[in-house]
Amino acid sequence: MAGDDIRSALFLCALQNAVKHGGVPQSGAVIGMVMGAHPELRKQAKEVSGLAKDAIADVAALSPDERVAKLQSLSPEMFAALHEKHEHKKVLPDLEGAEHGVVMRFAPNPSGPLHIGHARAAALNDAYVKQYGGRYILRIEDTDPKRVDPEAYEMVKEDIEWLGLGITETITQSDRLPIYYDLCGQLIGRGGAYVCTCENEHFKALKDAKKACPCRDQPVETAIFLWEKMLDGGFKEGEASVRVKTDLLHPDPAMRDFPIFRILDKPAHPRIDARVYPLMNFSVVADDHLLGVTHVIRGKDHIANTRRQRYIYDHFRWTVPVYRHYGRMGIEGVVLSTSQMRMGINEGKYSGWDDIRLGTLRALARRGISPEAVKNAMLAIGIGETDISFSWDNLYAENKKIVDPAANRYFFVPDPVTAPVEGAPHRIAHAMLHPGDSSKGNRVLPFEGTVVLPASELVPGAAMVRLKDLFNVNIVRDGEKVSFSYGGDSLSDARATKAHIIQWLPAQQTVPCTLLTMEGEMKGVCEPAVTKELGNVVQFERIGFVRIDTVTEAGVRAYFTHT
Ligand code: GLU
Repeated sequence: MAGDDIRSALFLCALQNAVKHGGVPQSGAVIGMVMGAHPELRKQAKEVSGLAKDAIADVAALSPDERVAKLQSLSPEMFAALHEKHEHKKVLPDLEGAEHGVVMRFAPNPSGPLHIGHARAAALNDAYVKQYGGRYILRIEDTDPKRVDPEAYEMVKEDIEWLGLGITETITQSDRLPIYYDLCGQLIGRGGAYVCTCENEHFKALKDAKKACPCRDQPVETAIFLWEKMLDGGFKEGEASVRVKTDLLHPDPAMRDFPIFRILDKPAHPRIDARVYPLMNFSVVADDHLLGVTHVIRGKDHIANTRRQRYIYDHFRWTVPVYRHYGRMGIEGVVLSTSQMRMGINEGKYSGWDDIRLGTLRALARRGISPEAVKNAMLAIGIGETDISFSWDNLYAENKKIVDPAANRYFFVPDPVTAPVEGAPHRIAHAMLHPGDSSKGNRVLPFEGTVVLPASELVPGAAMVRLKDLFNVNIVRDGEKVSFSYGGDSLSDARATKAHIIQWLPAQQTVPCTLLTMEGEMKGVCEPAVTKELGNVVQFERIGFVRIDTVTEAGVRAYFTHT
């Protein structure tokens, strides 16, 4: 590279560095940048470092504003790169030990369909696997038959497909009981766990007093014998459990010798024939270890479990994964509790798991929220430990970025009033399907004398409205009677009277339409072409984005998405 070229490369790098960080750049940083961009200069290192000082001095002589202007004019790309960096702030923070790839998991219980709360763990783990490369395991945690809904297996699968997670393998814990039994036998063999046959109350009293129960000291052979008896049906429900040895002096009683296996006769498991079940802390550790999970991102509500799980890792001398616990996320405005949802559905209060008053992913889908928007909103929330409340507005803003460029525009007239417009010329309105994309073409709305208007526009004092893409209409009042006449085409007349520019429909071309919102129903009419948009999100002009949910002989039903 010739001297002049080196000089200008150095100047640009120094300039960009100064704009980015403020102040005068260090020569080492500038030389490093130039070498990085032009590796061939390594051979001319001496010359480069000699020239760097001048370049830095030239930059130092400029004011901060001049630096910005110069960078913008000399290298728009380098200027733009600064902003890219800025936008990347939203990218998740680095995870330690992830450089060579990660193995992560999403581990829902099949107790109902997934809801927005689940989406955070699902999206964050997914994003990290995409960021670092690796495996993303879906683990169905169904070893508590009290928390299994047989229909949820399918629903969870569908919800994950909808979210578009990069799952690389799926396992179901109820398929793995023999593995957990075997590991439990090993743990007992190492003296790390014992079979406890104490009455619950008795054990609790001892535990609270930081005392060992008599079972804790049983010889390993006895423990193994009792464990096998447990597996062979020699104990009734509640008569025996396996406890892991932890620290009886631990300040938190919940950490002291907690149970890892129990016997349950009822309810029966919908998939397998079993009565000895691992508790989640055991099955989670067993699987995280066996599947090679490197990083676990989960909510703060699992911090106590993380502490408990470490005891099990320590007994086995297994490597503990890297944990991150994000803060709690309050979600208002929708029902999230699975039992409340189920009860409401059974009572007929909700139409199903996708009733729009629920916080399930399928309810969001029904409302026209796209899976990308859900994932983006969750990544924006990130893995921070601070408790936050979920912002619907942010989710809607993310969704709008996705639906706005694609959604066709239509007129929906709520609470329609039929308005014959006297003296108006018959004419055809051509309304754009999308204001930002003329290639999509126009809707054709022929005016033949009578239109329908939203009743809400006919308020006292409104003397004129402008029918969008058509003309102005005078609203003439004579006592109670309201009539309508042609008000000309002039947009400035409409502006002068502060006339609203409103949606309307030719009276002879309407389809009944019900718009369902979280607050209730809006009944009205829409353009016939809306019937071709089944399943799509469209915009009802002046109302907002809606998803066309059903189209029948009786008309259209749409769900309100957001404004
Ligand atoms: N199945 C657990 C839950 O849904 C997650 C377990 C974990 O992340 O370790 O809360």
